[in-house]
Amino acid sequence: MKQNRRQFLRTSAMAAAAFAVPLVSARATSIIKQKTSGNMKLSWTPYDLQLNHTFTISGFSRKTTPVVLTKIEYDGLEGYGEASLPPYLGETQASVIEFLKKIDLSGFSDLTHLDEILEYVDGIAINNTAAKAAIDIALHDLAGKIIGSPWYKMYGLDKTNVPDTTFTIGIDTDDVVREKTREAFGRFNILKVKVGGADDKRMIEAIRSVTDLPLAVDANQGWKDRHVALDMIYWLKEKGIVMVEQPMPKLDLDNIARLTEESPLPIFADESLQRLADIERLKGVFSGINIKLMKCTGMREAWKMRNFAETLGMKVMMGCMTETSCAISAASQLYAGMHFADLDGALLIGNDCFEGAKLQNGKIIASDLPGIGVKLAKKIEFGR
Ligand code: MG
Repeated sequence: MKQNRRQFLRTSAMAAAAFAVPLVSARATSIIKQKTSGNMKLSWTPYDLQLNHTFTISGFSRKTTPVVLTKIEYDGLEGYGEASLPPYLGETQASVIEFLKKIDLSGFSDLTHLDEILEYVDGIAINNTAAKAAIDIALHDLAGKIIGSPWYKMYGLDKTNVPDTTFTIGIDTDDVVREKTREAFGRFNILKVKVGGADDKRMIEAIRSVTDLPLAVDANQGWKDRHVALDMIYWLKEKGIVMVEQPMPKLDLDNIARLTEESPLPIFADESLQRLADIERLKGVFSGINIKLMKCTGMREAWKMRNFAETLGMKVMMGCMTETSCAISAASQLYAGMHFADLDGALLIGNDCFEGAKLQNGKIIASDLPGIGVKLAKKIEFGR
């Protein structure tokens, strides 16, 4: 496998050089140019998402997720964005706000320069990927509103040609697991189970006692031994599991590569990757990648990642954090044609403040509104 990865590295530079994706068509670009004038104004507000259930993944529980909502006003239009901040990723509302305060958009009067603006934002500080996504999403929303089109149309995608979204069931007691599974009846066509501990088989059996729906599993790096992981994957396949996310520790790539080679189920990278630059080294290690806006700085890079991974012959799925319908709607614009989707983030919270992409027959479908396709569902005060 090491040799395969070396061989791959020799050819991947050529693949990367040949790879280019127009983010906005020439016609759309000229429309933005004609309509753009004045300065953009950025404002924000912290907001705490209330989870419907205490959420437990391998080694961690919580009842709320902090986010920061952003707004960019321009020429009477408003673009909305969001940074979702699950605590294990290291960003906080304070760090996002500190980052946002450094952003000065006054020098940019032309939204055709999304590239230029986002390159500037990316260069302000390393990391801060959710803070950067909050700007990226708001700018995409605004640009789409100026053009008068949702992004899925500008990407050339059929918004209905999307995979069923999984509905996530955290690690819990059998009774709670069965209760959560029943919540999914009639709404979802595939469930995602958080595994990676001693309770894996008990969890799966509890779910199987109430449903035959296909299941995805996410071990969140929880399996430490490749042979134990492989035995578990064979057992899971017999139980109707269709894919496995991040089976082993994120840096244990040699063992993951061997596991993927031997696995009867596709293996997706989540914690092992963040951004576009991480994809090359995962070719031959994972079957596919899980793209999340909060990890990769937003829609622009997510779109590039999707296309690059597919060019390399890798499968792609769209994931999310616990997020409002703002960030979920942004994701809904660019995931048509992907293999899997995990976009239940807004469905797990009780205080969603946006209306946008909606669950329809088990799929998250983008709205027809321009931009990322959202409107505020209640009054939110933005400031700075
Ligand atoms: Mg995951």
